[in-house]
Amino acid sequence: MTGHPIREEDFELRALGALEGLEREELESHVSECPACAQRLAEARGRLTLLALVAPPTEPSAEILHRLRQRIREEAAAVPLSAQSSRWAIPWTAVAMAAACMLLAVLAVSMWAQNRRLDRQLGVLRSQQQAQERQNREMAKLAAAPDLMIVSLASSPGTPKAEARVVCSMQMGMLYYDGDLQPTPPKQSYQLWLIPMQGEPINAGVFNPVAGENSRWMSKIPAGVAPKSFAVTLEPAGGVPHPTGPQVLAGPVS
Ligand SMILES: [Zn+2]
Repeated sequence: MTGHPIREEDFELRALGALEGLEREELESHVSECPACAQRLAEARGRLTLLALVAPPTEPSAEILHRLRQRIREEAAAVPLSAQSSRWAIPWTAVAMAAACMLLAVLAVSMWAQNRRLDRQLGVLRSQQQAQERQNREMAKLAAAPDLMIVSLASSPGTPKAEARVVCSMQMGMLYYDGDLQPTPPKQSYQLWLIPMQGEPINAGVFNPVAGENSRWMSKIPAGVAPKSFAVTLEPAGGVPHPTGPQVLAGPVS
Protein backbone atom coordinates (compact mmCIF):
# COMPACT_ATOMS: atom_id res chain seq x y z
CA MET A 1 0.00 0.00 0.00
CA THR A 2 3.05 2.28 -0.08
CA GLY A 3 2.19 5.55 -1.76
CA HIS A 4 -1.48 4.60 -2.34
CA PRO A 5 -3.16 4.52 1.10
CA ILE A 6 -6.48 3.56 -0.46
CA ARG A 7 -8.48 0.37 -0.28
CA GLU A 8 -9.73 -1.19 -3.49
CA GLU A 9 -13.39 -0.78 -2.58
CA ASP A 10 -13.00 2.94 -1.75
CA PHE A 11 -12.96 3.78 -5.45
CA GLU A 12 -16.29 2.04 -5.95
CA LEU A 13 -17.69 3.60 -2.78
CA ARG A 14 -16.61 7.08 -3.85
CA ALA A 15 -17.98 6.58 -7.35
CA LEU A 16 -21.29 5.59 -5.80
CA GLY A 17 -21.17 8.68 -3.55
CA ALA A 18 -21.16 6.36 -0.55
CA LEU A 19 -17.80 7.17 0.95
CA GLU A 20 -18.06 9.53 3.89
CA GLY A 21 -16.18 11.51 6.50
CA LEU A 22 -12.47 11.10 6.98
CA GLU A 23 -12.15 8.31 4.44
CA ARG A 24 -13.71 10.48 1.78
CA GLU A 25 -11.41 13.38 2.62
CA GLU A 26 -8.39 11.08 2.55
CA LEU A 27 -9.34 9.70 -0.80
CA GLU A 28 -10.11 13.12 -2.28
CA SER A 29 -6.80 14.59 -1.16
CA HIS A 30 -4.82 11.56 -2.35
CA VAL A 31 -6.56 11.41 -5.70
CA SER A 32 -5.90 15.10 -6.28
CA GLU A 33 -2.17 14.36 -6.17
CA CYS A 34 -1.99 10.85 -7.58
CA PRO A 35 -2.78 10.43 -11.29
CA ALA A 36 -2.84 6.61 -10.97
CA CYS A 37 -5.54 6.67 -8.30
CA ALA A 38 -7.43 9.43 -10.14
CA GLN A 39 -7.44 7.09 -13.12
CA ARG A 40 -8.76 4.22 -10.95
CA LEU A 41 -11.51 6.43 -9.58
CA ALA A 42 -12.43 7.46 -13.13
CA GLU A 43 -12.56 3.78 -14.08
CA ALA A 44 -14.82 3.02 -11.12
CA ARG A 45 -17.13 5.84 -12.23
CA GLY A 46 -17.01 4.49 -15.76
CA ARG A 47 -18.07 1.04 -14.59
CA LEU A 48 -21.04 2.50 -12.72
CA THR A 49 -22.03 4.63 -15.72
CA LEU A 50 -21.76 1.52 -17.82
CA LEU A 51 -23.99 -0.30 -15.38
CA ALA A 52 -26.58 2.45 -15.66
CA LEU A 53 -26.40 2.28 -19.44
CA VAL A 54 -26.43 -1.46 -19.68
CA ALA A 55 -28.82 -2.45 -16.94
CA PRO A 56 -32.18 -1.01 -18.05
CA PRO A 57 -32.60 -2.73 -21.45
CA THR A 58 -30.97 -5.98 -20.38
CA GLU A 59 -32.51 -8.60 -18.16
CA PRO A 60 -29.54 -10.23 -16.38
CA SER A 61 -29.25 -13.81 -17.53
CA ALA A 62 -29.79 -16.76 -15.21
CA GLU A 63 -26.07 -17.38 -15.46
CA ILE A 64 -25.21 -13.90 -14.21
CA LEU A 65 -27.78 -14.07 -11.42
CA HIS A 66 -26.35 -17.39 -10.38
CA ARG A 67 -22.82 -16.01 -10.38
CA LEU A 68 -24.00 -13.00 -8.41
CA ARG A 69 -25.62 -15.16 -5.76
CA GLN A 70 -22.44 -17.19 -5.59
CA ARG A 71 -20.44 -14.00 -5.27
CA ILE A 72 -22.70 -12.73 -2.50
CA ARG A 73 -22.12 -15.97 -0.59
CA GLU A 74 -18.36 -15.68 -1.15
CA GLU A 75 -18.34 -12.06 -0.04
CA ALA A 76 -20.40 -12.93 3.01
CA ALA A 77 -17.94 -15.67 3.92
CA ALA A 78 -14.97 -13.37 3.31
CA VAL A 79 -16.23 -10.41 5.31
CA PRO A 80 -15.14 -11.45 8.83
CA LEU A 81 -11.61 -12.08 7.57
CA SER A 82 -11.26 -8.81 5.70
CA ALA A 83 -12.80 -6.97 8.65
CA GLN A 84 -10.12 -8.41 10.94
CA SER A 85 -7.24 -7.70 8.62
CA SER A 86 -8.20 -4.16 7.73
CA ARG A 87 -6.21 -1.30 9.12
CA TRP A 88 -9.03 -0.23 11.42
CA ALA A 89 -12.18 -1.86 12.56
CA ILE A 90 -14.54 -1.13 9.72
CA PRO A 91 -18.21 -0.56 10.50
CA TRP A 92 -20.36 -3.40 9.22
CA THR A 93 -22.40 -1.08 7.05
CA ALA A 94 -19.25 0.04 5.26
CA VAL A 95 -18.25 -3.58 4.67
CA ALA A 96 -21.69 -4.39 3.37
CA MET A 97 -21.58 -1.29 1.14
CA ALA A 98 -18.17 -2.25 -0.16
CA ALA A 99 -19.43 -5.74 -0.91
CA ALA A 100 -22.47 -4.28 -2.65
CA CYS A 101 -20.25 -1.97 -4.69
CA MET A 102 -18.00 -4.78 -5.70
CA LEU A 103 -21.06 -6.76 -6.70
CA LEU A 104 -22.25 -3.83 -8.79
CA ALA A 105 -18.86 -3.62 -10.42
CA VAL A 106 -18.85 -7.37 -11.07
CA LEU A 107 -22.35 -7.13 -12.46
CA ALA A 108 -21.45 -4.18 -14.68
CA VAL A 109 -18.36 -5.83 -16.02
CA SER A 110 -20.02 -9.20 -16.60
CA MET A 111 -22.99 -7.56 -18.32
CA TRP A 112 -20.64 -5.53 -20.42
CA ALA A 113 -18.76 -8.72 -21.34
CA GLN A 114 -22.02 -10.52 -22.05
CA ASN A 115 -23.24 -7.67 -24.24
CA ARG A 116 -19.98 -7.73 -26.15
CA ARG A 117 -20.34 -11.49 -26.59
CA LEU A 118 -23.92 -11.08 -27.81
CA ASP A 119 -22.87 -8.29 -30.16
CA ARG A 120 -20.11 -10.41 -31.56
CA GLN A 121 -22.40 -13.44 -31.97
CA LEU A 122 -25.00 -11.23 -33.61
CA GLY A 123 -22.37 -9.84 -35.95
CA VAL A 124 -21.20 -13.33 -36.87
CA LEU A 125 -24.78 -14.50 -37.47
CA ARG A 126 -25.54 -11.41 -39.56
CA SER A 127 -22.46 -11.87 -41.74
CA GLN A 128 -23.19 -15.60 -42.09
CA GLN A 129 -26.70 -14.71 -43.19
CA GLN A 130 -25.41 -12.12 -45.65
CA ALA A 131 -22.91 -14.61 -47.07
CA GLN A 132 -25.70 -17.18 -47.38
CA GLU A 133 -27.96 -14.69 -49.16
CA ARG A 134 -25.14 -13.69 -51.50
CA GLN A 135 -24.49 -17.36 -52.27
CA ASN A 136 -28.21 -17.97 -52.88
CA ARG A 137 -28.30 -15.10 -55.37
CA GLU A 138 -25.18 -16.37 -57.14
CA MET A 139 -26.61 -19.92 -57.14
CA ALA A 140 -29.78 -18.61 -58.75
CA LYS A 141 -27.73 -16.82 -61.42
CA LEU A 142 -25.60 -19.91 -61.96
CA ALA A 143 -28.65 -22.17 -62.20
CA ALA A 144 -30.01 -19.92 -64.96
CA ALA A 145 -26.78 -20.03 -66.99
CA PRO A 146 -27.40 -21.29 -70.55
CA ASP A 147 -24.20 -23.37 -70.51
CA LEU A 148 -24.73 -24.94 -67.06
CA MET A 149 -22.55 -27.99 -66.60
CA ILE A 150 -22.67 -30.62 -63.88
CA VAL A 151 -19.55 -32.73 -63.41
CA SER A 152 -19.43 -35.72 -61.07
CA LEU A 153 -16.16 -36.38 -59.26
CA ALA A 154 -15.31 -39.83 -57.85
CA SER A 155 -12.57 -40.90 -55.45
CA SER A 156 -9.27 -41.84 -57.02
CA PRO A 157 -7.98 -45.42 -56.59
CA GLY A 158 -6.40 -46.04 -53.20
CA THR A 159 -8.10 -43.05 -51.50
CA PRO A 160 -11.05 -43.10 -49.05
CA LYS A 161 -14.42 -43.27 -50.76
CA ALA A 162 -15.87 -39.86 -51.46
CA GLU A 163 -17.78 -38.05 -54.14
CA ALA A 164 -18.44 -34.52 -55.25
CA ARG A 165 -20.29 -32.47 -57.82
CA VAL A 166 -19.06 -29.42 -59.60
CA VAL A 167 -21.74 -27.20 -61.10
CA CYS A 168 -20.31 -24.52 -63.33
CA SER A 169 -20.84 -22.04 -66.10
CA MET A 170 -17.76 -21.28 -68.16
CA GLN A 171 -19.55 -18.28 -69.69
CA MET A 172 -20.13 -16.76 -66.27
CA GLY A 173 -16.82 -17.99 -64.88
CA MET A 174 -18.60 -19.34 -61.83
CA LEU A 175 -18.45 -22.67 -60.05
CA TYR A 176 -20.25 -24.42 -57.20
CA TYR A 177 -18.67 -27.35 -55.37
CA ASP A 178 -20.52 -29.86 -53.19
CA GLY A 179 -18.60 -32.86 -51.88
CA ASP A 180 -18.28 -35.21 -48.92
CA LEU A 181 -14.50 -35.45 -48.50
CA GLN A 182 -13.46 -36.00 -44.90
CA PRO A 183 -11.19 -33.50 -43.10
CA THR A 184 -7.60 -33.23 -44.27
CA PRO A 185 -4.60 -34.22 -42.16
CA PRO A 186 -3.15 -31.29 -40.15
CA LYS A 187 -1.48 -28.47 -42.13
CA GLN A 188 -3.05 -29.54 -45.40
CA SER A 189 -5.95 -28.37 -47.56
CA TYR A 190 -7.83 -29.79 -50.49
CA GLN A 191 -7.59 -27.89 -53.74
CA LEU A 192 -9.96 -28.12 -56.68
CA TRP A 193 -8.42 -27.81 -60.15
CA LEU A 194 -10.02 -26.99 -63.43
CA ILE A 195 -8.02 -28.93 -66.01
CA PRO A 196 -8.45 -27.17 -69.34
CA MET A 197 -8.29 -28.74 -72.80
CA GLN A 198 -5.06 -26.84 -73.22
CA GLY A 199 -2.59 -25.52 -70.68
CA GLU A 200 -1.92 -25.86 -66.97
CA PRO A 201 -4.48 -26.81 -64.30
CA ILE A 202 -6.27 -23.73 -62.94
CA ASN A 203 -6.90 -23.23 -59.22
CA ALA A 204 -10.66 -23.39 -58.66
CA GLY A 205 -10.79 -23.28 -54.86
CA VAL A 206 -9.02 -24.34 -51.64
CA PHE A 207 -11.05 -25.89 -48.84
CA ASN A 208 -10.88 -27.70 -45.52
CA PRO A 209 -13.95 -29.86 -44.84
CA VAL A 210 -15.59 -30.08 -41.43
CA ALA A 211 -16.03 -33.66 -40.15
CA GLY A 212 -19.39 -35.16 -41.06
CA GLU A 213 -20.46 -32.22 -43.25
CA ASN A 214 -20.48 -31.73 -46.98
CA SER A 215 -18.29 -28.89 -48.17
CA ARG A 216 -20.36 -26.50 -50.26
CA TRP A 217 -18.92 -23.34 -51.69
CA MET A 218 -18.83 -21.14 -54.76
CA SER A 219 -15.84 -19.65 -56.50
CA LYS A 220 -14.94 -17.64 -59.55
CA ILE A 221 -12.96 -19.23 -62.36
CA PRO A 222 -11.59 -17.67 -65.51
CA ALA A 223 -14.49 -17.27 -67.96
CA GLY A 224 -14.31 -18.78 -71.41
CA VAL A 225 -11.92 -21.66 -70.61
CA ALA A 226 -12.78 -25.02 -72.20
CA PRO A 227 -12.54 -27.56 -69.36
CA LYS A 228 -11.47 -31.17 -69.87
CA SER A 229 -11.94 -32.35 -66.30
CA PHE A 230 -11.93 -31.36 -62.65
CA ALA A 231 -9.73 -32.86 -59.93
CA VAL A 232 -9.16 -32.42 -56.21
CA THR A 233 -5.67 -32.84 -54.75
CA LEU A 234 -4.31 -32.79 -51.20
CA GLU A 235 -1.92 -29.85 -50.83
CA PRO A 236 -0.10 -27.84 -48.16
CA ALA A 237 -2.53 -25.73 -46.11
CA GLY A 238 -3.82 -22.74 -48.07
CA GLY A 239 -3.18 -24.28 -51.48
CA VAL A 240 -0.41 -23.98 -54.07
CA PRO A 241 -0.12 -22.41 -57.54
CA HIS A 242 0.26 -25.79 -59.28
CA PRO A 243 -0.90 -29.22 -58.15
CA THR A 244 1.77 -31.13 -56.24
CA GLY A 245 -0.08 -33.56 -53.96
CA PRO A 246 -1.96 -36.81 -54.46
CA GLN A 247 -5.22 -36.68 -56.39
CA VAL A 248 -8.23 -37.68 -54.26
CA LEU A 249 -11.17 -36.91 -56.59
CA ALA A 250 -11.48 -36.53 -60.32
CA GLY A 251 -14.20 -36.38 -62.95
CA PRO A 252 -14.24 -35.73 -66.69
CA VAL A 253 -16.41 -33.13 -68.34
CA SER A 254 -18.66 -35.18 -70.56
ZN1 LIG B 1 -2.42 6.65 -5.48
